[in-house]
Amino acid sequence: MDTQNKAYKDILAHRRSCDKWGKGFCLACFGGGLTRFTEKYEEEERKEFKKECNIKLQIESATSQFIGFFHGKKGFDLLELISSMGLEETEWKIIMKKEVNMFSTNEIEEIEEYFKQKIKEKKP
Ligand SMILES: [Zn+2]
Repeated sequence: MDTQNKAYKDILAHRRSCDKWGKGFCLACFGGGLTRFTEKYEEEERKEFKKECNIKLQIESATSQFIGFFHGKKGFDLLELISSMGLEETEWKIIMKKEVNMFSTNEIEEIEEYFKQKIKEKKP
C-alpha cells in the first residue's frame, strides 16, 4: 500500500472527520468498499505513473539539450555528440525522417559512417 496514493489519503481524511469511524458502520470509511477503493487506488497509481513518465521525458530532453549546448560551446564535434547521447541507429533513422533539413549531406554521411563502424566493431 502506497500511503502517498491520493485514494488512500482521501480515506484517511474522511475518517478524521467522520463521526462513525471506529464507532458505527460507514462505507466511505472504507473507500466505498473494497472494489471501489481498489479501482480508485489503481487509477491514482496510473496517474502518478503518467506524471513520472512525463517528468522523465522532460529531463531526458533537457539533458540532451544541455549536452548539445556544451558541445557547441567547446567546438562542435558531431560524432562525439551522438556517441555521448548514446544514439542508436534506429533512433537516428527516425530523426532523419523527421528532421532531414537539420543536417547537411556531409553530416549525414559522417553519421551513417559512424553507425557502419559501430556495427563492424560489434562483429568479431
Ligand atoms: Zn465514514
